[in-house]
Amino acid sequence: MLVEPLRSLILAAAGSESIRRLVATAPGARGVVGRFVAGETIEEALRAVRGLAADGRCATLDYLGEYTSDEEQTERIVRTYLRLLDELYASGLTAHAEVSVKLSAVTVAGDEGLALRNAGRICAAAEQCGTTVTVDMEDHTTTDATLRVVTELRRTWPSVGAVLQSYLRRTESDAVALSGKGSRVRLCKGAYAEPAEVAFARAHEVDLSYVRSANVLLEGGAYAMFATHDPRLVEVLGQRVRWYGRERGSYEYQMLYGVRPDEQRRLAAEGETVRVYVPFGEQWYGYLMRRLAERPANTAFFLRALASR
Ligand code: FAD
Repeated sequence: MLVEPLRSLILAAAGSESIRRLVATAPGARGVVGRFVAGETIEEALRAVRGLAADGRCATLDYLGEYTSDEEQTERIVRTYLRLLDELYASGLTAHAEVSVKLSAVTVAGDEGLALRNAGRICAAAEQCGTTVTVDMEDHTTTDATLRVVTELRRTWPSVGAVLQSYLRRTESDAVALSGKGSRVRLCKGAYAEPAEVAFARAHEVDLSYVRSANVLLEGGAYAMFATHDPRLVEVLGQRVRWYGRERGSYEYQMLYGVRPDEQRRLAAEGETVRVYVPFGEQWYGYLMRRLAERPANTAFFLRALASR
């Protein structure tokens, strides 16, 4: 009963600078952040990728940052991605890792042209290193622009991954448009606070939309990337891929760093492709708050850890 108000409260706190400062300076902050974020540096991110690769898991690396306010900041983020890709290549890790990029981190005030140019630089570098890019999906006000940029990027780099969120009412029809053979599409439930006009409010409706969209992607021949920790959905998705006669390797499961690691290992040990979303960087606050909003138990863990040394 208290879950929805708590979730809205935490998502509201995600946008508050004063709460960010309070959390960042709390004594136990590092321990909590370390559960969901691989570290602040490229070196720490690579260490996490090596750890995942050791038991057969792949990674998609996200350099944390969103809603940048000036071009200098976006340039710094793009350059970090370029350095990350170089270092992945130099460490022989590109077979195990790709990158995820938020357009709001590489543009200013929704400038689509700048987003396209900067994301394109990252895609070009990824291609040179032999790996891929997935463009994260943000709140519903950006869905159309993000899909336009992904479509444009795919003209040059067809492997660019798109993301769909099953909580959005529009997603099943977006899935139809993106379900062509080889189209890489991450399907997740969605992590933002969205109004009822655009999003399903009930968990059951979000789950049904997820399965309908998964069916569309599997039927159309897309390379579906099932991003969920939901045990019931993972079971249903296993049934759907078999029903569509999909071979292992023609789809994958994705989960977040620090969430259900035993399940990640179990799926990988069964021969499934499992990719872990590995965030790193100093701008971890918004990301952490969205993870806490997903699960009240995480909030209790967070508050206890903040209070301890
Ligand atoms: P839920 O119904 O939230 O959870 C099901 C069960 O999973 C829970 O009961 C619990 O056992 C476990 N669980 C879920 N979350 C947590 C957690 N934080 N800590 C501990 N246990 C947990 N969202 C976007 O809006 N845009 C994106 O681009 C995006 N990319 C993503 C990429 C990946 C690889 C993943 C895994 C998620 C991504 N998300 C993204 C987040 C996603 O939309 C959901 O908010 C998140 O995955 C929780 O939904 P769920 O499917 O796991 O189901």
